[in-house]
Amino acid sequence: MANKNVQIKFTKLFINNEFVDAVSGKTFPTINPTNGKKIIDVAEGDKADVDRAVEAASAAFSRGSPWRTMDASARGKLIYKLATLMERDAEYLANLESLDNGKAYGDSLFDINFSSDIFKYYAGWADKIHGNTCPADGPVLTMTRKEPVGVVGQIIPWNYPVLMLSWKWGPALAAGCTIVLKPAEQTPLTALHMAALVKEAGFPAGVVNVVPGYGPTAGAAVAWHPRINKVAFTGSTEVGRLIAEAAAKSNLKRVSLELGGKSPLVVFSDADLDEAVEIAHVGLFANHGQSCCAGSRTFVQEDIYDSFVRKSVAKAAARKVGDPFAEGTEQGPQVDDEMFNKVLGFIESGKKEGAKLECGGERFGKEGYFIKPTVFSNVRDDMKIAREEIFGPVQCIIKFKTLEEVIERANNTTYGLAAAIVTKDIDKALTFAQSVQAGSVWVNCYDWVVPQAPFGGYKQSGTGRELGEDSLKEYLEVKTITIKLPQKN
Ligand code: NAP
Ligand code: MG
Repeated sequence: MANKNVQIKFTKLFINNEFVDAVSGKTFPTINPTNGKKIIDVAEGDKADVDRAVEAASAAFSRGSPWRTMDASARGKLIYKLATLMERDAEYLANLESLDNGKAYGDSLFDINFSSDIFKYYAGWADKIHGNTCPADGPVLTMTRKEPVGVVGQIIPWNYPVLMLSWKWGPALAAGCTIVLKPAEQTPLTALHMAALVKEAGFPAGVVNVVPGYGPTAGAAVAWHPRINKVAFTGSTEVGRLIAEAAAKSNLKRVSLELGGKSPLVVFSDADLDEAVEIAHVGLFANHGQSCCAGSRTFVQEDIYDSFVRKSVAKAAARKVGDPFAEGTEQGPQVDDEMFNKVLGFIESGKKEGAKLECGGERFGKEGYFIKPTVFSNVRDDMKIAREEIFGPVQCIIKFKTLEEVIERANNTTYGLAAAIVTKDIDKALTFAQSVQAGSVWVNCYDWVVPQAPFGGYKQSGTGRELGEDSLKEYLEVKTITIKLPQKN
């Protein structure tokens, strides 16, 4: 049940299966986005703490350690146990998530259940990761082995705190890696409870370590660390570049990046109008617009444009904004004052550049970081609101005429995370799906993200894939073993 008076149990760093203070003794406040007030102080990790965590993760990964000698099936059982502990604590975790992040309680609960499904999916993979025998030239038997890359660093954002953690821990643990995770400064609380569940599930000490702290200190220490073999990052393109640079300049650690987008959602006039309006509404406003794959460029064919705008405005204006813990709330506050001001800045620029503000466009209430659901019509491709990631509840509706034209305009962006088309015409759907430069394409739906299928970006939306079998590859090395035989058989 939704309960904002949730008791917070863990606020320290989690290293080697123990909750410990930062070496510096420093703490930082985590803020309640509904009112801007401090929830609690959390231990602030930096380089010295990342060093300690890497030490623990390296020991846990060393030859002969309990984690390295454990049967793969036993590793799978531990991951499955973690999923069941999450289910036991689902309401508690959802309350903690809503308190720290501001998302509606129902959305938090959805994220927790989705995350436990992801752990169950990867639990099944643990003993199904295998190599091949190769038809090698010569009198040899040649085979490949898939081995864990070793200690991995993971840096995650605040928009889906537990979900991003599960996307990263699931495949890393199934592959047999050990982990140093830095959660976002805005939302460290659920990651620390997840750390406690890791210990309760029975993972050996050092397999999972959690170091809350700031990006330029703790995050950079992860990205630069010479003994971290791979870094997985989700966040802004700007920081993604820093991560890739740090990896290149330190030890050439493997890098996977998921960096957001400016995803086109294209509606043709043959679509069922109400259904299309609903798909586009949820595709943008879900999670307060704070979603990497938000359908943030809504392209609508000219003959239905006006009625589409009218219906979209009615929907946005009816969206229930308010206390994340109240029954029926669909939208809570933006995560912090920085994002709140950034989104309001985008709204100002939209007005200034001549887009038509149809509804919203200002703060909601008197305190906290709430923004009214906002719709702009008459948006042109060259406007800032149509080019840059807003990461807030601002729908930009753009007019188009033909399929060929909209494909070109959809692809005219540095991003390539997701795209969608709403149409009854299979030829249009398939032509679009094959022509659009995006890692995920949805036809007559949006945000259909599941544990079994890969997710990730083309172009500057990132490198590598998360979820599905593809994500495992990010955490595995391939070793080729060749054995000489007396003769060719
Ligand atoms: P961000 O700075 O990229 O943060 C993501 C993570 O990277 C956080 O854990 C952050 O730590 C860490 N980080 C920051 N600087 C770092 C550095 N120099 N080295 C290593 N790690 C570092 O994102 P943001 O500031 O929260 O949001 C800015 C914009 O990014 C948003 O407006 C949105 O456009 C985009 N964004 C995208 C996603 C996505 O899902 N792709 C998610 C969130 C944000 P801190 O906690 O200290 O920031
Ligand atoms: Mg930042």
